[in-house]
Formats: sequence, C-alpha cells, structure tokens
Amino acid sequence: MCGIIGYIGKRNPVEILIEGLKKLEYRGYDSAGIALKGNDIEVIKSVGKISNLEDKINNSNIIDSNIGIAHTRWATHGEPTEINAHPHTIGNITLVHNGIIENAKELKEKLQNKGIKFNTSTDTEVVAALIDYYYKGNTKEAIEKAIKELKGSYALAIINKDEDKLYAVRCESPLILGIGEEEYFVTSDIGAILPYTKNYVLLGENEIVTLSKDNYIIEKDDTKVFRKVEISNLSIEDTSLNGYDHYMMKEINEEPILVDNLVKKYINNIDKLPDLKKYKNIHIVGCGSAYYAGMIGKYLFEDDGIKVECDVASEYRYRNIIYDKDTLVILISQSGETADTIAAMRKANDSQVDTLAIVNVESSTIERESTYSVLIEAGKEIAVATTKAFILQVLILSLLSYKINPDDKYKEDIKKLPQQLKVLLDKTGFYKKLADSIYKHEDVFFMGRKVDYAISMEGSLKLKEVSYIHSDSYQAGELKHGTISLVNEGTIVFAIVTDDEIRDKTISNLEEVISRGAKPIYVGNVDVNYEDKIIIPKVHKKLQPILAVPPLQMIAYFVALKRGCDIDKPKNLAKSVTVE
Ligand code: GLU
Repeated sequence: MCGIIGYIGKRNPVEILIEGLKKLEYRGYDSAGIALKGNDIEVIKSVGKISNLEDKINNSNIIDSNIGIAHTRWATHGEPTEINAHPHTIGNITLVHNGIIENAKELKEKLQNKGIKFNTSTDTEVVAALIDYYYKGNTKEAIEKAIKELKGSYALAIINKDEDKLYAVRCESPLILGIGEEEYFVTSDIGAILPYTKNYVLLGENEIVTLSKDNYIIEKDDTKVFRKVEISNLSIEDTSLNGYDHYMMKEINEEPILVDNLVKKYINNIDKLPDLKKYKNIHIVGCGSAYYAGMIGKYLFEDDGIKVECDVASEYRYRNIIYDKDTLVILISQSGETADTIAAMRKANDSQVDTLAIVNVESSTIERESTYSVLIEAGKEIAVATTKAFILQVLILSLLSYKINPDDKYKEDIKKLPQQLKVLLDKTGFYKKLADSIYKHEDVFFMGRKVDYAISMEGSLKLKEVSYIHSDSYQAGELKHGTISLVNEGTIVFAIVTDDEIRDKTISNLEEVISRGAKPIYVGNVDVNYEDKIIIPKVHKKLQPILAVPPLQMIAYFVALKRGCDIDKPKNLAKSVTVE
C-alpha cells in the first residue's frame, strides 16, 4: 500500500506534493516524507499523518527546486518510525516505494557483503542500494539491472542527486504518469494530480519512464514503448468534502443518487450487462467488504439455480481449485488494484476460465485483465471504510441476478430504491440516538441467517473498523454453539431479519440471547415488538440488502464520532490493499 507522487517541471513542487499526499493519505498514514532536488537533495520525513510533515516543512527553510518525490507509508517491513519513512537514500539514489520486495533479505546480505551500509529495516532501502550499486553514470541502465533482481511488487519514483531527471517504474503496484503543460507527474492515483492535469498514461510492468522538464521517454529492455494518453473523467469536486465533516458521511449520502444512476443505466438496458445464465459454476472472490458483497451475490445466484462458491481472495489464490469449464470467476474490488484479488484473477485467467470484474476504477489492473468488466460508477471513494462502493457492488450483483431471472416485481421495486434510501438516510437523529446507547460498549454481536448473515458481517465490519469496538457476526443458529457464553446482561446483539423464509428461526435465536440478558437491536422489514429497532421498507428479496446495510453504516459512523475516532482514516488501515 502507500501513496507515491513525483513532480518535475517549472514550479516549486512542495505544495503540489503535499496536496497530492493528502489525496493519497487514504492509502496509508504511518509516516510521510518528501525529497526535493535542487543543487543538492533535501529529505524531510515525519511519523504519522501528512499534517505532521506539512508542519515540519513550514518550519524549515527548504531548498529551491523543480523536482520532487513524496510518499505516504503503510509499513510492511520495519516499524513506522521516522528513520524507516520514505524517501530512502543510498549514494546517488533517493527513492520512494510502494509494495513489498520479497527477496529484500537476500539482496541486503549480498550488498552488505560488498561493504554497503544500511540505516533502516525497510525492504525499500535495499532497492535504493541496489540501483546505486549498479549506477555507473547511467541511471536508467542501473534501474533496469536492479529491477531484474527484485522479487515482489513495486512502484518506484527515483531521483539521482547529479541529474535533473525523475525516473519511475512499476510491477504489480499501480503508478501512472500525469502529463501537464511542460510538467510531469507520477502518482499512485490520478486523484492526487487532478488540479493540474487530467491527461495520463498507464505504465506497463517494468517499463521505465525517464522524465525531464520537457519530455518523457518510456522504455522496456532498451526499446521505446508508445502508450496512449488517456483523459480521466474524474473531477476535482469528486475529492472535496462538500460541506460534510467526513468523507464517510458524504459518501453514504451519495448512495441514493448513485443507485439511481446505475438503475437508470441498466434496468431497461439489461443487455449491457454480461449474461451469467450460460455458466454452471460461479466463484466470487473479494477481500473485506467486497467479500461480503460477494456473499450476498452467492445467495442471489444460488436462488437463480447456479452453483456458487464465495471465497476471500487471500485464500482463493492459494487453493488447489479444480475448475470445470463453464465456470465464471467474479472479482470484486473497489480499487481494482487489490493485490490478492489480482492474484485470484490471474489464477482464473491462467486456468482459461472467464473472469468478470466488478470494480470502481476504470483501467485498473482487474478491470483491464478480466474477460468482462462492469464499473460500479461510485465516483471517488476516499473514506477508508467503504460505504457507497459496497452498496453499488451489491446493486450490480443484484442486476446480474435479475438478468438471469427477470420479474416485474423486481423492476418495480428497484426504481423505488433511491427514494427509500434517501428517507432511510435522512433519519440521522435516530441513528445518533442508537449510537448513544452503543458507544460505551466494548463488545457487540451481529447475527442473521443466509443473506442476513452476509449483511450482518458487513454491519459488524463497519462498526469495528471505524469505532474500534470489538464486534463479531454469527450465523444466528451458530451463536449458541459457543459464543453465547460471551453474552452478558446488556450485551448488544443486532439481529438482521429481512428474509421471510427464515424470519421465525432468527427471531427464535434472538429470543435465546435475550433470555441470557442481551439487549437486542432488530433490523428488519416487518415491525416487531422490540424497543430498539430499525424498520426498513419491504422490497423484492434481491434488493433487500441494499436497504439493510446503509442504516448500519450510519450507526458505525455515529458510534465512531461519539468515541472520537479518526473516522476517515482508522488506525492501521489503508484503503486499497495493494500488498499481499
Ligand atoms: N514495503 C515498504 C515499507 O514498508 C513500502 C510499503 C508501502 O507500500 O507503503 O516501507
């Protein structure tokens, strides 16, 4: 994970780099650092958020420069200390890195035997040392030699203290080249450079780009590579708070309009979506919330008569899967860059089965390399905890299921969703009150059966990731096989009950925990006689999760707010997990 930005051009890069890092902060925020190239190279680093780095820069006399690289870190190798913060310098070479160098230990030993001294415990410093080791007057050649020895993932932005140039190269980790007017950028995410340019070039694996102030050259193995300049359709507003205190709240409130847009796009043009009827097996793969969206998909497609397996990508990639032909593998990822999901996709592609990407980011790796892709069109999602992207992933799965088995009731109900969502989200006072009764607890449980279990998994994850309350979710029937021992007087248990077929069963399980002292919060589409309840509209079964999850997102938000948590950037997390 982590975010990288680099600049070369006419301007002093400090502001561009700092503002860019703020846009990239969602990718990790253990530490941040910047290197500026003037007559010499100046490196400034600090632990924690970008604002700490900004304070440090504001309090120092920085050198005149037109070239710079910057980094916000999510530590994988070495503690999140200042010394381990990027950029790292060895000899002539200073660089920032996103990814993991898997053979860093071996390379380090090899270089140490040649007398090279290291200052940090990161894998990144080894890359700087290796490039410097090969540097004999030609930086590009040195980079080329070094990357041939690297195993793992990397996006690198590199400067040499003796040259007015900026170099970049990537393998597995994302990195794009931004093309401005007489200025160039490299960045992990186009969002970081949108105020300056919308034109960008996607860099292929191990293509080295050499940037000077007035041109760029992309080369692979000494051969020039020509790549199309693309134009991003994202706007700067997509990345502003628009009056909200937090991106999470802004993004939850975008759900009605975004759902409306997708419904309008597809409901009368369902042919635009891939046809899943021809597959006998579907595997759905994702990580975190995307996996829970996939679990919802599993119940949808099973009801359509297709055999479905759903797995977390980090497990799926290492399983010995015997693929039947007529299998489709669906990959769900907001960023389209989730490392484990990419690996799962490549496993399926290598096995010659069809793959379908459900992603938010156009031209992301998963979108490009899958057989088919559908964009969820969520716009930029900045809060680390996903909200709108999750809802739209589920909506696409639900539309795919409708395409397999169309019916009029679904078509009628789906059009009502945006308005129903709006009404549900407007009840902020109600969610705040519920949050007041939850925020002091240290354990919360969620339960449900079948699709309601998938919903409760997502509700539980949302709560724990933003509020740091320990929370777990169980299949309602499973609770009494062990975990019920943790239920005490006043323990909060959410029961999700939207599926008519198993309503009575889940209610019985809820009664079991109530009789052991639990304080229930019921989330369902039929009114009941519990004190704390969230009643959602009753709609077609395939659409019910889209109305059940947003109230749980709201509760997680208000609980986190009450607990004074850093809502958009929960500790230890990063938004797109681009390392294994
Ligand atoms: N592996 C590197 C480190 O731990 C880079 C991590 C990142 O991508 O932020 O410093």
